[in-house]
Amino acid sequence: MKRITIAKGDGIGPEIMEATLKVILAAGAKIQMDEIKVGEEVYLSGNTSGISNTSWDVIRKNKIFLKAPITTPQGGGYKSLNVTTRKFLGLYANIRPCISLHPFVKTKHPVMDVVIIRENEEDLYAGIEHQQTDEVVQCLKLISRPGCEKIVRYAFEFAKQQNRKKVTCFTKDNIMKQTDGLFHKVFDEIAQEYPNIENEHWIIDIGAAKLADTPEYFDVIVMPNLYGDVLSDVAAQITGSVGLAGSANIGEECSMFEAIHGSAPRRAGQDIANPSGLLQGAIMMLNHINQNDVAERVHNAWLKTIEDGIHTYDIFKPGISKQKVGTQAFADAIIQNLNKKPSQLKSVTYSVNTELNLKPYVRKKSKLKTLIGVDIFLHWAGTNPNDLAQLLKPLNTDVFELAMITNRGIKVWPDGFKETFCTDHWRCRFKAFKGKSFTKHFILQLLDKTEQLGLDSIKTENLYEFDGIPGFSLGQGQ
Ligand code: NAD
Repeated sequence: MKRITIAKGDGIGPEIMEATLKVILAAGAKIQMDEIKVGEEVYLSGNTSGISNTSWDVIRKNKIFLKAPITTPQGGGYKSLNVTTRKFLGLYANIRPCISLHPFVKTKHPVMDVVIIRENEEDLYAGIEHQQTDEVVQCLKLISRPGCEKIVRYAFEFAKQQNRKKVTCFTKDNIMKQTDGLFHKVFDEIAQEYPNIENEHWIIDIGAAKLADTPEYFDVIVMPNLYGDVLSDVAAQITGSVGLAGSANIGEECSMFEAIHGSAPRRAGQDIANPSGLLQGAIMMLNHINQNDVAERVHNAWLKTIEDGIHTYDIFKPGISKQKVGTQAFADAIIQNLNKKPSQLKSVTYSVNTELNLKPYVRKKSKLKTLIGVDIFLHWAGTNPNDLAQLLKPLNTDVFELAMITNRGIKVWPDGFKETFCTDHWRCRFKAFKGKSFTKHFILQLLDKTEQLGLDSIKTENLYEFDGIPGFSLGQGQ
């Protein structure tokens, strides 16, 4: 008997949870459940995190969490509980299988079988945002080497375990050379350890277009958080409905299983929602906790029910479907089919549990880190970058000089274009001359002097070289 935590969530959550539990218990799931309250009710009671401390204790003790979707109230400083849970519990891998059920569920992509493996903790989802000037706000995109290594290794180990042939990586490293560049670099490094699995990298924009158009080309796709969030919805939707896909959030200690969709408040309380997404999440959970026989029984009964044409409204199509049913009737139909297998759709067998035994991350030897300058960001209401350069040039010394000014990343001094639109947010790069040693003392001096000039410095970014290689991007147009 495995003790798990469940949360019934908001909107359609309670209905699809009831349906899911009914099916897995009828199939013989050996689970004991502790229910916790999360989401709207908790948020609106004044807890901006949407969950109480005692609920965290339950989740951490049981380690396995089956969660229905929740509603994050908009505005009001409410933090997304989904993002918080994934990060607090270190659930770094999000696995989202998206499989067509042709010809029983209408889809333009009859042979699609893609697993999206999404990095789950980093990227723009660090949620570190600041308003810096009247006109400019900023969100920090954080990508770490351990984060990349863990998710990429997970993708290859998953592919190996599931006998999949290819792992594809999507990034936008032609633009974000440091952040997405690191993800791509780590992908190339780790791919070398798996010579029997094909590997390839696509720039995300054309990769996304190819995925939407020709998903059968792909097998396992690994990508940073934001791209994975967006593209897994696209991938699920083009199999027939976003209501069909489940998701496993895996960490070293705890795991959370859910549907990929949200709480669909407009569909709530009507017994019409498709419970398949949460049921798929529950199947992944059963597989994860080594109840493979139950996972297999439920999955095959679900496939048989879909094949029988018993469909909820979202996938119901006259001519293909036979009977339109509500949430609970769909669950009852699956229960009737327990111990049956589909005859046309491929039946599934779960022979291994999906818990992967991954090599732990090992920190590499530190590189030689040399400070060679600083970017000082200013809130300045002027419009002509040449005027700003004139103000700053007196700060030059025989160690460093003003090398460049950019506005929203594009170089506007020296040799800017008068056509370039400028906001009130300016990056002023001071760089040491070759062979001169630059220290933090110079940064403090620069900040002091800009202050004396009446300029509003809003932040600095140190410019480092690591083993002689610049750890910062050039200005666009530089
Ligand atoms: P959503 O996924 O809840 O619903 C979008 C639309 O998809 C629905 O209107 C419905 O037409 C369809 N749909 C979704 N699930 C379905 C199902 N099971 N059966 C049939 N049709 C289904 O997206 P949204 O409307 O953007 O978000 C609603 C709320 O859900 C928001 O508060 C959001 O923050 C939250 N959300 C929660 C999670 C989560 O808990 N993991 C994930 C995404 C969004």
